[in-house]
Amino acid sequence: MNGNGPGPAGNAALAGDAALVRNAALARNYAPLPVTLASGQGAWVTGVEGRRYLDFLAAYSAVNFGHSHPRLVAAAKEQLERITLTSRAFDNDRLGPFATALAALARKDLVLPMNTGAEAVESAIKVVRAWGYRRKGVPAGQATILVASGNFHGRTTTIVSFSDDASARDDFGPYTPGFRIVPYGDVAALRDALDDTTVAILLEPIQGEAGVIVPPADYLPAVRALCDERNVLFVADEIQSGLGRTGSTFACDLVGVVPDLYLLGKALGGGIVPVSAVVGDEDVLGVLRPGEHGSTFGGNPLAAAVGLEVVRMLESGEYQERARELGEHLHGRLHALVGSGVTAVRGAGLWAGIDIDPSVGTGRQVCLALLERGVLAKDTHGSTVRMAPPLVVERDEIDFAVDALEAVLRT
Ligand SMILES: *Cc1c(COP(=O)(O)O)cnc(C)c1O
Repeated sequence: MNGNGPGPAGNAALAGDAALVRNAALARNYAPLPVTLASGQGAWVTGVEGRRYLDFLAAYSAVNFGHSHPRLVAAAKEQLERITLTSRAFDNDRLGPFATALAALARKDLVLPMNTGAEAVESAIKVVRAWGYRRKGVPAGQATILVASGNFHGRTTTIVSFSDDASARDDFGPYTPGFRIVPYGDVAALRDALDDTTVAILLEPIQGEAGVIVPPADYLPAVRALCDERNVLFVADEIQSGLGRTGSTFACDLVGVVPDLYLLGKALGGGIVPVSAVVGDEDVLGVLRPGEHGSTFGGNPLAAAVGLEVVRMLESGEYQERARELGEHLHGRLHALVGSGVTAVRGAGLWAGIDIDPSVGTGRQVCLALLERGVLAKDTHGSTVRMAPPLVVERDEIDFAVDALEAVLRT
């Protein structure tokens, strides 16, 4: 783990220096690992210097189907040559079929198409507030939404208003009111915080950015029951956890829970274009009236064509099955590392948060060493390494990545 001296770590530092010069005009809101990627195929990406790396981040689950999946590339290319943007001032022939297929996949009535994940979250906040005033009878301007500690729902000013991560929030106020943060995984805390102004509980069924935190198995069912009892909407942010990652279409499926609204993004765009959506039933999503919400690019024909192909790929259950089976293998191998440089492993399907023993190094140091061994992964919250390979990954590629981690932890 000691990165001094010549050798591979030195090469990474040189590559990093070259990137610093090339990217001098780039705002510094990211601190990327020192690798510059130029192409990708399946679970593999290739750097500008020609070296191949196994992609164990998959763009935070936006590349669930791997890079350049032929079905998705074909759908995009075909649509590129027909029409790409109409605006919602007019209908387009791709949007209806996309919405119909996505609603069916989620077993809901309606789809509200947007672009980024944060926009899906923002859209849901508007929908549940309007539902609160128009259907539940909350006094005007009083609606509250309960959220969880450690949450990550995006980067807009309203969303960071209810983050408890100082780096996401500090110096970006004044903050949007109307949110209460309670500890994640604690139903009693939700019950205590809930009152007649509460319109929704907004949660990630598994918290991704927090380090792939899986709540107790009875948590989401208890949240569902509480929402039913108090006439509150359950909004599941499945932007990272959804669309096959955990071994089922939605992470909520793992515990048999159906939320009122699903928030989807990332993989919905197949890693090609940003596509997000709020999916729910008529009684909730039906509150929106023409003119109350929109987006110039939301539901554009290119996004809809790619999103439709993504939904079709999920219909067979093949990718969910792969995530389930290969996930067992990944987690089995990672659990064997606990006590040998790893203090804990969490997750579901092809998604793992690996807590690194501080005596071994930081999460970032481990990711730098993995990079030298040809594996791309990303640290989160200092000491956790997150692994989320594309769902097209093969068993021997998982072994390659875990062998690399094992070797890193040993040195
Ligand atoms: C990534 C993410 C978002 C935000 O998505 P963007 O497309 O980056 O705006 C929201 N919620 C969760 C759970 C996410 O992982």
